[in-house]
Amino acid sequence: MSSILSRLPFDETLIYINGEWTKSQASQTCRVENPDTAETIATVPECNARDLDLAVQAAYSAFHDGPWVNEYSGAQRRDALLALATAIEESRQDIEELESLNTGKPINDVRVELDDTIDLFRFFAGYADKVEGRHIAAQTNRNLEGYTVKVPVGVVGFINAFNYPICLLAWKVAPALAAGCTVVFKPGPQTPLTTQYFAHLLHKTGRFPKGVFNVVLGGVGVGQALVDHDLVDKIGFTGSVATGKQVIRSTASTRNVRCTSVELGGKSPGVVMPDADLDKTAKLVVSGCMANAGMNCNALTRLWVHRSIYDEFMPRLKAAAEALVLSTPQDTATEMGPLIDKRQYDRVLEYIRIGRDEDQAALLTGGQPALGRGYWIQPTVFYNVSPTARIATEEIFGPVLSVLEPFDELDEVIAIERKNEFGLAAGIFTRRHQDIAKFTRKLRSGTIWVNNYNALYSYLPFGGFRNSGFGRELGYESFDGYLVPKSIIDDISY
Ligand code: NAD
Repeated sequence: MSSILSRLPFDETLIYINGEWTKSQASQTCRVENPDTAETIATVPECNARDLDLAVQAAYSAFHDGPWVNEYSGAQRRDALLALATAIEESRQDIEELESLNTGKPINDVRVELDDTIDLFRFFAGYADKVEGRHIAAQTNRNLEGYTVKVPVGVVGFINAFNYPICLLAWKVAPALAAGCTVVFKPGPQTPLTTQYFAHLLHKTGRFPKGVFNVVLGGVGVGQALVDHDLVDKIGFTGSVATGKQVIRSTASTRNVRCTSVELGGKSPGVVMPDADLDKTAKLVVSGCMANAGMNCNALTRLWVHRSIYDEFMPRLKAAAEALVLSTPQDTATEMGPLIDKRQYDRVLEYIRIGRDEDQAALLTGGQPALGRGYWIQPTVFYNVSPTARIATEEIFGPVLSVLEPFDELDEVIAIERKNEFGLAAGIFTRRHQDIAKFTRKLRSGTIWVNNYNALYSYLPFGGFRNSGFGRELGYESFDGYLVPKSIIDDISY
């Protein structure tokens, strides 16, 4: 057993509610695996509705009666978040090791995710003391002064996907706490451990009053209970389209409607134009698709290659995919890890079968399990795929790239992509600025990469169109999503 698991600074069989580590009210537990080997590495509680209620009540009391919102200044919240960023930084090696074990992510990737996590807490700390309203000069009656003040939304319930446990936690929790909200957080059931580590660090800073941050663990049951709880003011959800739609329906059926932000799936197109640097682009496409073993909402999974370079490009793509190093995630040479669990592994193998048998696509490389253990699958590339094939239109969430049939005109691509069910991300590889301008103006995608792929910044908003969801994470837009304006109208002649 690895060293980090034997020296966890928290008891993973407990949950963090109201500033304390407590026993769950439920008797059920969840097994936590290492996807590299499929071995069990921990057992955590599977929370029930009673645990959830305690967590929400704690967040509700902290919001309405506690000092976080009612006594702390923005500068105090800023300093608390900065102290938390430093605490994460000081424990980063432990967290990296734990995240890599629990997710199977290559250790180098986890290091980048921890850089981002720390940066996000510092970035959003900077907004905590800059909450601004507007003064609107009286228009018709000079005695009426109108102005807005922005106040925190309230209790926020977060439901996360498994694919970037600590980093997506930072995307959500850092802006929410900076805005003065209180939080109940549920990680993906497969990946609870770094969320618990985070709760331990937050507690250790001594800067966050009880009830400001609470964790519940488990899957559908406790997630649904969080969505259904009447004392929750906002739900921030990241996950699949099917669950996202269920969350939207549920939030509309509770006694109080509440705001919702849903970050859902993707089937993101990339376009290789005739003037592209083919060697560079092949590598960018492969990392754009295979990063995080393809379990990436913005993965580049539908590739358009211009007819004039199609045949030249395929061998380069094949070589780039086959060059990826699949090995023990804790080895610094490893470039791609396993799928997260058996369900995801089976799903990806089933899509590879569909690609071959139903879509009749040609296999360029991969298509098999790898390493003979755990949940490993080879980087897989199909080509000559119809743009309407299932593997070209459905989110697979694994290392599977569909190179579509060759195209002649960028307008054709744009017209077809208008019908893409998703609109999370896209990429184009060319130096022709007329094509770049056409593509970036016409495509309804939340993020568009030009001659690169997957780069994200704390200050640039991220989110989707259509079935990729609504609401934005990162950037000022995300922070603003945890605030609501109140309008104050003051009769100064009174
Ligand atoms: P999922 O929908 O199965 O689960 C997501 C979360 O919802 C989990 O925590 C799960 O326990 C919870 N959940 C399940 N049923 C629920 C219910 N009825 N009510 C409330 N919560 C419920 O998704 P997943 O397999 O964990 O994640 C993969 C998906 O997430 C992919 O579709 C991916 O594209 C998407 N994703 C999107 C983004 C983004 O920013 N757009 C980022 C990461 C992942």
